[in-house]
Amino acid sequence: MNKKEVFEQVSYMEEQIGQLYQQLGDLKKHLSELLEENHRLAVENHHLRNRLEDDGEMNQIDQEADDKDVGVGEGYDNLARLYEEGFHICNVHFGSPRQDEDCLFCLLFLNKTK
Ligand SMILES: [Zn+2]
Repeated sequence: MNKKEVFEQVSYMEEQIGQLYQQLGDLKKHLSELLEENHRLAVENHHLRNRLEDDGEMNQIDQEADDKDVGVGEGYDNLARLYEEGFHICNVHFGSPRQDEDCLFCLLFLNKTK
């Protein structure tokens, strides 16, 4: 191998490493997006599960309320809490994250229910 060939090969390797480095960066970005989405879905899932459990309890309360006429405000409190934690409670986007913005539908719903 003469000097020119060695130099060309080193340049070629340098180029390849540069491309690999860029691919690695892209993969890393993609991975962090996936992790972010995974986290978001886990939180959403968690809240929806809680909501389902609350619904189960509410049904019991509703049945008891038929006899005793109690437990009216609790459903509202659950929804208001869910909204405060950053989730939609309106029927338009129910259960999805609010991303720190107030939602007009949610606020209308809260006022109506209050
Ligand atoms: Zn909403």
